[in-house]
Amino acid sequence: TQKEKEEEIRRSNALEKDDVRVLRNSSRHEFLKKTVDKKLIELGNYIEDEQYLFEGVKLTEAEKSDYRYKKEIYELLTKQSEEADNVNEYRMPDAYDQDGVVNQKKRFSAAMRHDRDRISDEKMNSFAEQELWEEHQIGKASWKYGSENKKQASDDYQFVFEDQIDFVKASVMDGDNVCYEEMDDSFQKSKAKSASEALLEERKKLPIYPYRDELLKALDDHQVLVIVGETGSGKTTQIPQYLHEVGYTKHGMIACTQPRRVAAMSVAARVSQEMGVKLGHEVGYSIRFEDCTSEKTIVKYMTDGMLLREFLGEPDLASYSVIMVDEAHERTLSTDILFGLVKDISRFRPDLKLLISSATLDAEKFSDYFDSAPIFKIPGRRYPVEINFTKAPEADYLDAAIVTSLQIHVTQPPGDILVFLTGQEEIETAEEMLKQRTRGLGSKIAELVICPIDANLPTELQAKIFQPTPGGARKIVLATNIAETSLTIDGIKYVVDPGFCKMKCYNPRTGMESLLVTPISKASAMQRAGRSGRTGPGKCFRLYTAYNFHNDLDDNTVPEIQRTNLANVVLMLKSLGIHDLIHFDFMDPPSVEALLKALELLFALSALNKDGDLTKVGRRMAEFPLDPMLSKTIVASEKYKCSADIISIAAMLSVGNSIFYRPKDKQVHADNARLNFHIGNVGDHIALLKVYNSWKESNYSAQWCYENYIQLRSMKRARDIRDQLEGLLERVEIELISNSNDLDAIKKSIASGFFPHSARLQKNGGYQTIKHPQTAHIHPSSGLAEVLPIWVVYHELVLTTKEYMRQITELKPNWLVEIAPHYYQLKD
Ligand code: ADP
Ligand code: MG
Repeated sequence: TQKEKEEEIRRSNALEKDDVRVLRNSSRHEFLKKTVDKKLIELGNYIEDEQYLFEGVKLTEAEKSDYRYKKEIYELLTKQSEEADNVNEYRMPDAYDQDGVVNQKKRFSAAMRHDRDRISDEKMNSFAEQELWEEHQIGKASWKYGSENKKQASDDYQFVFEDQIDFVKASVMDGDNVCYEEMDDSFQKSKAKSASEALLEERKKLPIYPYRDELLKALDDHQVLVIVGETGSGKTTQIPQYLHEVGYTKHGMIACTQPRRVAAMSVAARVSQEMGVKLGHEVGYSIRFEDCTSEKTIVKYMTDGMLLREFLGEPDLASYSVIMVDEAHERTLSTDILFGLVKDISRFRPDLKLLISSATLDAEKFSDYFDSAPIFKIPGRRYPVEINFTKAPEADYLDAAIVTSLQIHVTQPPGDILVFLTGQEEIETAEEMLKQRTRGLGSKIAELVICPIDANLPTELQAKIFQPTPGGARKIVLATNIAETSLTIDGIKYVVDPGFCKMKCYNPRTGMESLLVTPISKASAMQRAGRSGRTGPGKCFRLYTAYNFHNDLDDNTVPEIQRTNLANVVLMLKSLGIHDLIHFDFMDPPSVEALLKALELLFALSALNKDGDLTKVGRRMAEFPLDPMLSKTIVASEKYKCSADIISIAAMLSVGNSIFYRPKDKQVHADNARLNFHIGNVGDHIALLKVYNSWKESNYSAQWCYENYIQLRSMKRARDIRDQLEGLLERVEIELISNSNDLDAIKKSIASGFFPHSARLQKNGGYQTIKHPQTAHIHPSSGLAEVLPIWVVYHELVLTTKEYMRQITELKPNWLVEIAPHYYQLKD
């Protein structure tokens, strides 16, 4: 149309004019090269897209030939996999009766089947989270009911799936010496006891129990102890209790740090149960934006990041008598920094006990770091695990994971399945796929109880994951890395391991950070496999080939400190008065380049002055448990008189990408509802603000969420976070002012924090990030995905099939000059 043409012309005119010049530049070659390589290893998908891979990157001839070679291998492997696909059905020999027909007697009665169909239909129509959850529970209950007299389907029924994946059995991971009978037997006995007695029995059966006294003795003798034990041996839940039982809590709290929120919550819930106290009283947890502790609390589970923040208020951690840095092998950024800080305070606080606990055996390193602290090993109890690899690489690991799970379900003896996926969206998709593929199969297969582990699910709902599977049914747990070592779910017999996890990758040279689905390490793969051998011999199905395993996977995951943006940590250390970062006692130091980059960013955000000292802005920013760019946005909102709006946006951004709900059968409705918030192409940040404000106007109504396809749970969380940010505003003495009609003011605040994330439209419709030219695209979920403004700031970069910018706001280039004259200047 005419209008579109005009717009096109306007745009290309604007593009001709290079209105803003960036003051500094740097090479992107290496980062892209790395990404290209990563992708090649990752999956063949991207290889088709030669254009993208080579775009703008000068690869040498040698690199090109290497790439072609890999591509050739990949194509060969794909072909093999297609051939394998031709074997596309299999039958259970005993599923037929003598005449070759499926035995009908064992099916559900018609009535029961009807009931089930009805429930699953309704399930598709509902979207309010509460209802979803309730229906899920109803579904479970009906499954239980329906399955009462049934054996596992594989014994009795025929079932043919269209897809199938071939595995090769590779090896058996040895178990330790265990006495099968004894364990099964004691399990039976505990059933008859009261709940609390049973819990005590269970505690006594944990591998750590026989070592209780020895462990306590060792801690009596030494200030610092490194503890190593197989996942599930009882380190996290038992050690703090033992310490409490012998009186360590008389003169201070016991802190136990976890790298993940869900682990902290769930373990605290379990321990409070075992101790027979209310969660939040004697036993509590503290995670970002959620403090479930009280005056009474003596055992405190917390994320490593939260303990780090506590140093700001209490540099000697005087309220603690024991610090247990748990899951040390994960080597998260916060854990690594904690190492340095606790090591330091342990020197002037001889009364403080320090426990470093880890699931893997490379404890020597921890011991060396902590001045040769003794290592306490808890012998594991592990059954043999059979390892299977695919014959050929799988192009779509999510699909392969589903197919494999169903394959296990229909062919393997009872035992629950654990599937490792990379993130929340994937877990949701997998759940949906599983439901779809099993729907309508009725009694052809045994019941499958799907249990997604949701990073945002409240504790009481998470607890269901640990409930025993109803007889005759099979549980399938869909989890992220969290189930690798942080959480142990009993009863898992089969592990499906696609071989990927989501990892933050950072290139210090360009300052670009991206979330990337990356192959796991060999160490991770072994941990994952081990999850299946806890309560009996297990099987692990790896969705990659033995060749991949041996040749493409790294031995260990690189510590986060060496692959992340350090701005947050640097800001925190500066606030703690630690100035000489280069010589901070890091276990594995980050590259000097990454440190400098962080300093540079903080300088750009005016958090540091040119001598590297904290400014007033920086001190205020450090009060917020947020990424420095987001904290800066909040601090800048004072100037633009829109602090109340900005903290709403910050809260919504902190909830993550789970605000909008998009049920499969109502996508059009959902999309329309969503468009309402984007009227006027206001950008994603302001759309989030509109969502929040409309919800508030509706008096925080659940009905409103339901009608607008918004997740109530996420909104409640945003509200909680916002409340806390409001409190922090008061602490840094920024007045709470709303200015929601002046959109430019709000956008300028956002730009004040996120100008290092600005990007400019290119003629090909892609964007070039400004500070360090790299091509990126607007994420399809953005309200501006079709608008393509010339200048944008983005919240984050995500690499999936392309490099995507998520959460976008349009920006005027002269703002950049106004906001960050040290970064940008007008072209003359
Ligand atoms: P470790 O820290 O050595 O890996 P844990 O102390 O986490 O071991 O786990 C010990 C036992 O407690 C495991 O059998 C696990 O299943 C159980 N457990 C842990 N958390 C929960 C929970 N929230 N609900 C039920 N059982 C749990
Ligand atoms: Mg643990």
